[in-house]
Amino acid sequence: MTQERIRNFSIIAHIDHGKSTLADRLLEYTKTLTEREMQEQFLDNMDLERERGITIKLQAVTMNYQAKDGKEYYLNVIDTPGHVDFTYEVSRSLKACEGVLLVVDAAQGIEAQTLANIYLALEQNLEIIPVINKIDLPNADVEKVTRELEEIVGIDEDEVILASAKDGTGIEDILEAIVERIPAPDDKEDDHLKALIFDSYYDTYRGVITYLRVFSGQLVPGMEIKMMQTGKKFEASEIGILNPGPKKVDALNAGEVGFMAANIKDVKDSRVGDTITSYKKPAPEPLAGYKQVKPMVYCGLFPADGEDYEDLRDALDKLQLNDASLVYEQENSAALGFGFRCGFLGLLHMEIIQERLEREYGISLVTTAPNVVYRVELVEGEEITIENPTDLPERNEINAIYEPVVRANFMVPQDYIGPVMELCEEKRGEYETLEYLDSLRVLLKYKLPLSEIVFDFFDLLKSKTRGYASFDYEIIGYEGADLVKVDILVNKEPVDALSFIVHQDKAYYKGRQLAGKLREMLPRQMFDVPVQAAIGNKVIARETVKAVKKNVLAKCYGGDITRKRKLLEKQKEGKQRMKQVGKVDIPQEAFMAVLSID
Ligand code: GDP
Ligand code: MG
Repeated sequence: MTQERIRNFSIIAHIDHGKSTLADRLLEYTKTLTEREMQEQFLDNMDLERERGITIKLQAVTMNYQAKDGKEYYLNVIDTPGHVDFTYEVSRSLKACEGVLLVVDAAQGIEAQTLANIYLALEQNLEIIPVINKIDLPNADVEKVTRELEEIVGIDEDEVILASAKDGTGIEDILEAIVERIPAPDDKEDDHLKALIFDSYYDTYRGVITYLRVFSGQLVPGMEIKMMQTGKKFEASEIGILNPGPKKVDALNAGEVGFMAANIKDVKDSRVGDTITSYKKPAPEPLAGYKQVKPMVYCGLFPADGEDYEDLRDALDKLQLNDASLVYEQENSAALGFGFRCGFLGLLHMEIIQERLEREYGISLVTTAPNVVYRVELVEGEEITIENPTDLPERNEINAIYEPVVRANFMVPQDYIGPVMELCEEKRGEYETLEYLDSLRVLLKYKLPLSEIVFDFFDLLKSKTRGYASFDYEIIGYEGADLVKVDILVNKEPVDALSFIVHQDKAYYKGRQLAGKLREMLPRQMFDVPVQAAIGNKVIARETVKAVKKNVLAKCYGGDITRKRKLLEKQKEGKQRMKQVGKVDIPQEAFMAVLSID
């Protein structure tokens, strides 16, 4: 196909504004999916995504569209995730595109992530097609949303397409606009092969499947290729497009989007952001890849059963291929044994990885409370990075501690400005600006420590504003803060996996609260178990788990043997998610307890 018939685009939107539904309608209208094949929300094809109603992985699907000008076009739609944790995946998809559909809910208007996504699209000079979706809703306010698009983003009223992904209104207009307004790719066909890897995924039977956009030259089956970052050589065994299922093609040419299988076995050999070139006639320079994303939240993942350690490593290896932002290294905890310290983009990302490990790989996990990455300047001048609270040096060795800070943008109805500001102040926020977007809504900016917002902030914001405020943030750097490490001792033994780093002003309160929580959570023993919180050598809180007087098994002695066996089995089951530390079993929830303290 010639490049002038190709359009590569993404759909960007705030969560729930209808991106996935709209994508489905486009597939349906272009008969890429027949009704029979039409699963609800085809593009969200991971179980977890469908359950949570969010899009995590991006996918590229080719649609054939017969336009009103009588010509047939190839429209490649690259789906993007819609959560702040995954902004980097949005920018990844956008690199493979010439334009975007900007979807805005007709009742909600522009939200924080709409803005964040618009900035990403503008940065890459993409053509933006604004679509106001859900115009079928009784509370749709097309005029207001159009005005917002004009005033906030500078979009001309005439460019706006009105649509309902629910009843199909506007779908043809959108397809025509894609053909007319989004530029065709203008890539060099007769040059060295350069293809950008924007996603890859591991298939048990075929090995690594790589999604790519060809920017110059041609990729054909049987071709010897080279990965420019790693220098590794492979043979492209199969290339194709998704239409929507995989369909083999004879070549992927400049401007085209598709997939490649090349017998790649090691997950680390198909890196997202790498450039594929010809082995025999390599390009002199790779394409500008992606900025390496740095994980901002870390936690420990330990197999509940120590024997699953190798399986866990294997599973992480495989998940990492689909997810360049997941990092992990071996961690040895005195309390929890061998496991991994894993880095994530945010808390949702962390939950998703944990859930996938349990569901798809059948590994039951003990996880520790997440923390952000700190920078520490030592007295002797060296600067180190702390990903695990346990590794924080003694106070007298530290000159200063720096924590990551973000700029948070809130879109807030005027009635809720007060509660949002209060919340930000509570979380050590620093007010920056307030700007009226229209007579009812404001854009509020705060600087906040990442550690204060990464955990339950979003939920608090939602409950304080009845769901009417949206927010998005970007990390802007590191700032010094008065932070200390609080250690927890159970039965006089420090439990490394329970240590946490906290602002000095909150240390006593959090230490006391956590000790209290643990007292409730720890199973009672035959003896009193003291639970202490300490900063350095100084104990700041103490609680006691009172002894049980009777052995739980005592009542079974002499009784029915099967009943005793059942009881033992039940205890064993419960213990699967327990970790023994010294003489005390600590249940899984205890390692996350610090999160439930406000
Ligand atoms: P995404 O998070 O942007 O992918 O949004 P979804 O496509 O998952 O849609 C979020 C919700 O809005 C779902 O319950 C959809 O059924 C609903 N929805 C999407 N488009 C429309 C529309 O045009 N009209 C109405 N009434 N509901 C819609
Ligand atoms: Mg979606």
